[in-house]
Amino acid sequence: MEPRDLSDHSIYRAGRGIEEVARELELDPGELVKLSSNENVLGPSPKAVAATREYADVVHLYPKSSHTDLIDRLADDWGLAPEQIWLANGGDGVLDCFSRAVLRPDERLLVPQPGFAYYGMSARYHHGDTESYQLSKADGFAQTADTVLEAYDGERVVVVTSPHNPTGSVMPLDEVERLAEETDEDTLVLVDEAYGEFANVESAVSLVRERDDVAILRTFSKAYGLAGMRLGYGLVPESWADAYARIHTPFDTGELTCRAGLAALDDDEHIEQTVEMVETAREYLYENLDARTWKSQGNFVLAEVGAGEGAGPAGGQSETTGGEAVTDAAQREGIIVRDCSSFGLPGCVRITCGTSEQMERAVAVLNEVIDA
Ligand SMILES: *Cc1c(COP(=O)(O)O)cnc(C)c1O
Repeated sequence: MEPRDLSDHSIYRAGRGIEEVARELELDPGELVKLSSNENVLGPSPKAVAATREYADVVHLYPKSSHTDLIDRLADDWGLAPEQIWLANGGDGVLDCFSRAVLRPDERLLVPQPGFAYYGMSARYHHGDTESYQLSKADGFAQTADTVLEAYDGERVVVVTSPHNPTGSVMPLDEVERLAEETDEDTLVLVDEAYGEFANVESAVSLVRERDDVAILRTFSKAYGLAGMRLGYGLVPESWADAYARIHTPFDTGELTCRAGLAALDDDEHIEQTVEMVETAREYLYENLDARTWKSQGNFVLAEVGAGEGAGPAGGQSETTGGEAVTDAAQREGIIVRDCSSFGLPGCVRITCGTSEQMERAVAVLNEVIDA
């Protein structure tokens, strides 16, 4: 017996955890600042933490009412019917739900390059594949309908990441609408709004209400600080929303996960503090980092710290790419950022927004290693 041919399936390499890095560098984990996975540095909503404790003693039961309650609450918040809310095991789980519900064998997704790795992974798990459209550094990674349509060739699903990871650019609502208008009737435009809480563009939810070919991904992992809980959801057109009942894993979102989500939605103070901190941090990074940055609408900023392929941080030759060399050097000083080589941006790093103290320390360290 052998598994099927998995040679086309890449292994997801998550950013390394604090403990792991601390052990390797023989540093105290408390001295490390992790700015590599776009987590909320303020932690989870305190209300979500309290709810998790409160419901811990009912986890011998399958989650039932918590799932329904959270769906009803989200439906209310978004002005949609409960069927149109597809809860899943993180935003990644939402992508799997769409793959299952939409992709026929050998159909393809059109995804941004640079872009988020899991789109392609999910497509391949479900016997599909991807093509890509290019976002270009030359025009600030701008996202318009034309950027996508130039590459579009009848793919079954077109993915728009807005705000985009790792660049922070957005596609305005009227461009998303034009994209949906100009792609085939049988093509789904999937708008990944994982960072939607940080953006000053409108959500595409109005298109989900009006059309049958636009769906949205949202997650509790970023602004709500619940990455460890694994909670995300899709917003899906009414006409085919009932597909969820046929494709989702029974009880895929746990009792504590749903309770934490419900409580987090009631914690306005936590979200407001988080968004304010992110806005301050973005400005600080643009102004103080000795590197080219791009305006971001996410909780992170992309910075060009080296010349890219084969060049060291100061432009000289080295074994590693500029981004990788800077990432390694910063890590030795306790600052963990994300090298963007794996995104196809070898001279760049992505820095998660943190508190003022964290940003000051990160900028001090990064400026030192960029100049080194
Ligand atoms: C973080 C992220 C997601 C979802 O992450 P989950 O933790 O699985 O909810 C989806 N899309 C993008 C672009 C992301 O950065």
